[in-house]
Amino acid sequence: APAAVIKMQIVVIGAGQAGLSAAYHLKRRGMAPHKEFVVLDQSPEPGGAWQHRWPSLTLSTVNRIHDLPGMPFAEALDTTATEMPANTAVPTYFAAYEKRFELPIYRPVTVKVVCKRDGRFRIETDRVQFSARGLINATGTWESPYIPDVPGRDRFKGRQLHTKDYKTAEEFRGKHVVVVGGGISGIQLLDEISRVTRTSWVTRRPPEFRQGPFDAEAGRAAVAKVEDRVRHGLPPDSVVSVTGIPFTPAIEAMQARGLLNRLPMFSEITEDGVRWPDGTSLRAEVILWCTGFRSSLDHLAPLMLHGESGGITMTGRLATQAAKDPRVHLVGYGPSASTIGANRAGGAAARELMEFLDLA
Ligand code: FAD
Repeated sequence: APAAVIKMQIVVIGAGQAGLSAAYHLKRRGMAPHKEFVVLDQSPEPGGAWQHRWPSLTLSTVNRIHDLPGMPFAEALDTTATEMPANTAVPTYFAAYEKRFELPIYRPVTVKVVCKRDGRFRIETDRVQFSARGLINATGTWESPYIPDVPGRDRFKGRQLHTKDYKTAEEFRGKHVVVVGGGISGIQLLDEISRVTRTSWVTRRPPEFRQGPFDAEAGRAAVAKVEDRVRHGLPPDSVVSVTGIPFTPAIEAMQARGLLNRLPMFSEITEDGVRWPDGTSLRAEVILWCTGFRSSLDHLAPLMLHGESGGITMTGRLATQAAKDPRVHLVGYGPSASTIGANRAGGAAARELMEFLDLA
């Protein structure tokens, strides 16, 4: 017999910051948990992608994790314990949050594909199937690590890994590690690894360190830049790439240790290292790609949301609504790919989608 299909008004995909914020607002606006909306999450535990972050990323080394709407971090755990790993602190907070607001989260459930069927969305998962009138997608980026296509990548006899796979510097002891990437994770991991072994740092462009505080105005300007791109159908830049890298005391100390002498991007990977166009080469046992992530949206492919400019044209109050299909909201995407942005986007998406579907 064909598998049963569970009918919902709205399905939220992903229970990270963005999905939880959306769920909170859907419930607050009167949607019935379990009956009218559910949240499907493929991770085994609460915490979104935070549960998968490397153990040395602590509450003191993250940029800043904003409170979810309606319940501050400090109610779930002692926020003065700044050495607590983010991969346990955030899951503890999210678990308490989900419980407090009795959010209808189903996990682990992986959404394989979403397609259109009889004027509704069919959400196919590795468990049961759902049908919904509206969709809030909050699947983040963690499942979509990006590694640039450099010639020779398959030839390398050493170890290659991405930020996503990093656990601890100890495993590289005695090896020469080439760290690729000029973002915050690249710099933090370079700092850690350089304490136990030899490192080289490679970035495409000279990194732009930001002196002075990053005030609310600068934050708004950065978000506006990404928002403008997605409203024009261009692929988003990551918010961090437009905010620059804060020149923290940790980075100042790295500079003093001579760690920030970056090399330009190499053009080729050899069996035992990397090579530049002028023939210079460097032997290495490990290449660590801190080259970022892309939005995890493959499961939405049948909805054909992408346009000619390579991105998804976004509209709506905070640019969370897909212009090609107003019943689809993307939260934690583009301008809302930060914890504070995800909070706001969840609220805007819940409201606009309910209004659009005449549920408000
Ligand atoms: P996620 O937290 O990634 O949650 C997405 C959820 O969706 C996951 O639970 C995942 O399992 C699930 N999912 C994915 N695909 C599917 C599927 N097909 N079916 C079902 N479920 C699915 N931002 C900040 O504001 N401050 C910081 O300090 C900060 N530090 C960061 C550090 C690192 C190393 C990285 C990579 C990012 C950092 N960010 C930070 C950005 C941060 O990721 C976002 O701000 C925010 O946490 C993302 O929330 P989200 O809800 O969009 O996604």
